[in-house]
Amino acid sequence: MTKDTSSRVYDAIVIGAGHNGLTAASYLARAGMSVLVLERRDIVGGCCVTEEIAPGCRASTTSYIASMLRPEVIRDLRLAEHGLRMVPCDPALQVPFPDGQLVSWWADRERVVAELRKISVKDAETFVRIDDQLKKLARYLQPFFLEPPPEVDTGSLSGWSDLLRVGKRFRGISSGEISQLVSFLTGSLGEFLDRNYESEKVKTLFLANNVYGKHGGPYQPGTALGLLFHLLSGGEHELQGFYGHVMGGMGAITSSMAAAARGFGAEIRTNASVAQIDSRNGVARAVILEDGTEIRARLVLSNADPKRTFLKMVAEKELPGEFLHAVRGIKMDGPCAKVNMVLAEEPRFTGTPAHYDPQQRSLFTLVPSLEFAERCYDVAKFGEIPDQLWVDCVIGSNADPSLAGPGRHVMTCFVQYVPYKLRQGTWDDNRELLGDRVVRKIAEYAPNVPAAIVARQILTPLDLERTYGLTEGNIFHGDLTLEQLFFNRPVAGWSRYRTPIRGLYLCGAGAHPGGGVTGAPGHNAAQQVLRDWKKGKFREVAA
Ligand SMILES: Cc1cc2nc3c(=O)[nH]c(=O)nc-3n(C[C@H](O)[C@H](O)[C@H](O)COP(=O)(O)OP(=O)(O)OC[C@H]3O[C@@H](n4cnc5c(N)ncnc54)[C@H](O)[C@@H]3O)c2cc1C
Repeated sequence: MTKDTSSRVYDAIVIGAGHNGLTAASYLARAGMSVLVLERRDIVGGCCVTEEIAPGCRASTTSYIASMLRPEVIRDLRLAEHGLRMVPCDPALQVPFPDGQLVSWWADRERVVAELRKISVKDAETFVRIDDQLKKLARYLQPFFLEPPPEVDTGSLSGWSDLLRVGKRFRGISSGEISQLVSFLTGSLGEFLDRNYESEKVKTLFLANNVYGKHGGPYQPGTALGLLFHLLSGGEHELQGFYGHVMGGMGAITSSMAAAARGFGAEIRTNASVAQIDSRNGVARAVILEDGTEIRARLVLSNADPKRTFLKMVAEKELPGEFLHAVRGIKMDGPCAKVNMVLAEEPRFTGTPAHYDPQQRSLFTLVPSLEFAERCYDVAKFGEIPDQLWVDCVIGSNADPSLAGPGRHVMTCFVQYVPYKLRQGTWDDNRELLGDRVVRKIAEYAPNVPAAIVARQILTPLDLERTYGLTEGNIFHGDLTLEQLFFNRPVAGWSRYRTPIRGLYLCGAGAHPGGGVTGAPGHNAAQQVLRDWKKGKFREVAA
């Protein structure tokens, strides 16, 4: 083992330069701590990156829309000064239907109502009523995003004061709203939509926006929660239900975060994969890189997912059996893929009005109905690649032409519902099959696409694991189901960023409040570390 040449002891090491690792590093460095970020890849950003997929053509290879990035993080890290620019997606969502109709979900509510009225007057009226209700309920949940979940321990004073804090957040809530909240937390999206809307197309619009990355078809209990999740505010101006195109692709978020972290004094090293966290006797003291270099720190934050952190980097004997059992049980397992393309001409989706400008021609979600989605999940859950896929297409170069070279267009295609574990064969054998099925589906709606493909990059769940370090390809570091949220995230009893190893914290999407490009877990973990740091808990460690 080689010691780090400087033999320096950092106050904190952050494992991983995903957007949450960079957020945490920035807050810690801003508070005066010496911070080193170690990233295994040759670029920062984790699943929030812009990468070249063909000469001169760049794409948001993994995440592709910024919807819930916390306004507080944008402001505190001064991301706009470091080059971050987002423009609202308008429409925020667009679904072309097999009969040739294109339905757009505009940023302006009156415009949405007018669009829905073309399909069903009754549904347009219902939408106004339900939208108000949902926005109000989402506001109750909003504050929990940027604070640790309560400690559910009525035997301690802090437990009681935490419960009081939670209670205060719901001051003024009516009994009707409590029951609505419970049904959104536990009910299924499909049943909610069937109960309230009459038109399949209107239901499909809601579907197209609300179960991404989830394990489970729209009729699975707990899927209604997405309706509230997406109404949390985001973007610089704290808009409820914000959807943003990021100029320069999603990587502009993390490059501005890296600039912020460096500006506060943090060091960032890429090509620095951590093999092990030295946690002898239950205390984190150092990390050991793949090349054997040991770097010491008073505390360590892991931006890697909980399974990768505890099952790969910490010696089994240092962790309580019960904790390990719970970590092994975290549900991950897919269920998404991504196919990114460079095209020689812009895709022409049927039904797109001729007067739409390029930005209005940048989003197309290909899912025709709830039943289609449910069937797609059913096939995937038994380990098969669905023949008929749900594909979400974003033509990034229509929002930001600088992403593509001259005469080129960049389209990213998110695929919802593919298995991580295939029943037969391997993903290495089936990669091209997935790419072909995605192209075939797109051709049903944009027939000019197959002949226009210049390059394509196929990221199966296995590729998401290998390249981006996501265990089982799970884009949220663990499913966002009720049993894995709030005080159960990552596992019951350890939701406040601390871990059974003293001085080791989790700061990524596997921690509360979960996945998506929000910056919230990184922010919250840093606040927890700073509270503990101020109490002087770690001064003697690693000295
Ligand atoms: C295909 C796809 C599409 C998505 N679409 C969207 C979207 O449109 N909008 C949205 O909001 N969210 C989307 N998401 C989800 C979102 O991108 C993630 O939930 C979020 O980026 C996770 O951020 P993170 O910083 O917690 O973790 P990550 O981004 O996973 O970062 C973890 C970092 O740790 C590094 N690391 C891991 N192990 C080690 C080690 N041993 N040593 C050093 N470094 C290590 C990894 O390389 C990585 O850089 C998508 C994700 C994927 C994969």
